[in-house]
Amino acid sequence: MKNAPKLWIIIPCYNEEEVLPVTAPLFMAQLKKMQQEGKISEQSRILFVNDGSKDTTWEVIKKLSKKDVHYIGITQSRNRGHQNAVLAGLMEAKDYCDITISIDCDGQDDIGAMDAMMDEYLNGNEIVYGVRSNRDSDTWFKRTTAQGFYKFLSMMGVETVYNHADYRLISSHVLQYFAEFKEVNIFLRGMVPLVGFSSTAVYYERHERLAGESHYPLRKMLGLAFEGITSLSIKPISMIASLGFVVSALSFIGIIWAIVMAIMGHAITGWASMTCIVCFLGGIQLLSLGIIGQYVGKTYMETKHRPRYIISEKTYESDSRELRKDI
Ligand code: UDP
Ligand code: MG
Repeated sequence: MKNAPKLWIIIPCYNEEEVLPVTAPLFMAQLKKMQQEGKISEQSRILFVNDGSKDTTWEVIKKLSKKDVHYIGITQSRNRGHQNAVLAGLMEAKDYCDITISIDCDGQDDIGAMDAMMDEYLNGNEIVYGVRSNRDSDTWFKRTTAQGFYKFLSMMGVETVYNHADYRLISSHVLQYFAEFKEVNIFLRGMVPLVGFSSTAVYYERHERLAGESHYPLRKMLGLAFEGITSLSIKPISMIASLGFVVSALSFIGIIWAIVMAIMGHAITGWASMTCIVCFLGGIQLLSLGIIGQYVGKTYMETKHRPRYIISEKTYESDSRELRKDI
């Protein structure tokens, strides 16, 4: 199939030696199926991005790549986190293929949904978001915190697709523009909608992890939410300004009230209330300074222009004839 588009499936892996041997054949079966249906080219690939795993994940990937040319892999020089791993994969893939689909390696996201994603691509959509139609397989706690996460993000001015994580199809054409988003604080699911182009969503059921453990406990999820908000929105700063305005207005009314009371001869005792007000304002000021400080810190990090990922090894030659885009 010469004219069918060339797809690269991007799969970030961190300490996944247990689950990778289980899910890799599932990705391969899906790839083969789409090839047979003529939806994608024979030159399509499954790209594993090892995110500096401490276990034998990279060895597993290398072994897979020797078994079948459709499996290829790159490794980051150290662990940089899920978002950077996906970004490394996308940026690597954009020069070799026509379409990318990023998906977690644990089999939680329905691999079969790629069929619908490809159909939507062929219908003319350049970005297709995979959206979870339910979260029944997650624990009550994970479900509630995750849903709170999306609601909180939107309250804070970060536009995301509700219940969409990082399972998505993006065309290389869009990725060429996305590469111009040079920030080092990256939050893909908030950044991709900013690029624009025609997009749609595909719904799927989320399963349980096929093996291994989640790397996203509540602490990391809160970190990701904070990262997303401070990277993509300055709403917290304007909220602080509004808060400052309200508190100042209330204080002004309080002062007038105190003067009137003094003129009327009702001396104001009230040491406790005074202390409360001082503490309250002290707290608010510290909090506000802290939040503004976060933005200053982020600006500082951005000005360094450090690389967002460093690929230390690949299972293929970068100039390999087989991987050339025009084949
Ligand atoms: N991951 C990664 N780097 C990290 C943490 C996770 O590349 O530092 C990968 C991980 O291997 C998996 C995906 O990101 O493919 C999602 O992680 P996980 O399944 O642990 O998160 P959850 O689905 O529980 O939110
Ligand atoms: Mg998972």
